[in-house]
Amino acid sequence: MDNRIYVDHSATTPLKREVLDAMLPYLTENFGNASTVYAEGREAKKAINIAREQVAKAIGAQEKEIFFTGSGTEADNWAIRGVAMANRQKGNHIITSAVEHHAVLHTCMALEKEGFEVTYLPVDEYGMVSPESVKNAITDKTILVTIMTANNEIGTIMPIEEIGKITKEAGVLFHTDAVQAIGMMDIDVNKLNVDLLSLTGHKFYGPKGSGALYIRQGAKISTFITGGGQERNRRAGTENVAAIVGLGKAIELATADIPAHTTKLMAMRDRFIDRVLAEIPYTRLNGHRTERMASNANISFEFIEGESLLLMLDMKGISASSGSACTSGSLDPSHVLLAIGLKHEVAHGSLRVTFGESNKVEDADRIVDELKTIVARLRDMSPLYETVKNN
Ligand SMILES: *Cc1c(COP(=O)(O)O)cnc(C)c1O
Repeated sequence: MDNRIYVDHSATTPLKREVLDAMLPYLTENFGNASTVYAEGREAKKAINIAREQVAKAIGAQEKEIFFTGSGTEADNWAIRGVAMANRQKGNHIITSAVEHHAVLHTCMALEKEGFEVTYLPVDEYGMVSPESVKNAITDKTILVTIMTANNEIGTIMPIEEIGKITKEAGVLFHTDAVQAIGMMDIDVNKLNVDLLSLTGHKFYGPKGSGALYIRQGAKISTFITGGGQERNRRAGTENVAAIVGLGKAIELATADIPAHTTKLMAMRDRFIDRVLAEIPYTRLNGHRTERMASNANISFEFIEGESLLLMLDMKGISASSGSACTSGSLDPSHVLLAIGLKHEVAHGSLRVTFGESNKVEDADRIVDELKTIVARLRDMSPLYETVKNN
């Protein structure tokens, strides 16, 4: 893997050495079950509470408002289903957006089959939800608004603070999937006025299978996984102590110096975007130019099949994505790219490059250089491109 360039950090990130080191004792000598009363158990419990402190501090929450889950997906499922079930008497209406992660969208769709009504708000050409549209969609039956903090495919950052003001005033619970946003921008649950927030360790150099849901004190939400009394009776199951410890350490490191981290990423991202748009014809940038995550570049190449592009990049030692990792492998074009108004064939020719700590600015150059050759080669095989070129 030495010479490879990994630019798929929105799919997952490598585990940091320091995080692994913090985890290892809990996979070996400190194996205790945190629910037990003797020394081994107390040691595990103490470690979980330190991690809870670290997560709370990173997002401006209280420790008792943090609940560990098995993934970001589980946190999303719990937030949405939990609020839906606990507030049924009050109403059956949920508001979300057309560009959410499938963990949110598919949960909302499942609830529609169970008698809930869901409004899927459209987005503008940059993938942005307008706060005004949220306001207009709220009815006296609305129990939840769920809008992501930053989009995993096109990197667009949503106006969460403004939406939070609206939901607060309307007395409607507000959930945000902040999975991509942790470590990329300042997140303070009180400043943003969010009541529920999902995050996951493996998107910020922590372990896979470690997530958390922030639940504002007093927010009405039902238990999602029943069983033992873990997580103060709200999320049953013996804790994955090592993963929780890793999540805590990783979020502490990821939020220690966000400006330094994002400044580096932005340099790579902008170098990549500027060069691609200038040097390869028939390309467009998807997502917002400025309100975008420091790590993300998403480009459509006309007359190109995204999957072929990915395979050829892979052969050159570059790991990127054609959309979201969860949909690659399927032939449906990305719902996010369709929602911002791209035609099917253009959406199919899209590439997502997400930079991270393993990259250098020179990587951006190497990817662009390879892309120029690959795109020219693929277009040479395209009959459609032939017609355009000859006109
Ligand atoms: C990765 C991701 C998830 C899912 O998190 P997992 O821990 O992989 O289940 C949810 N939402 C967004 C925006 C993501 O990028």
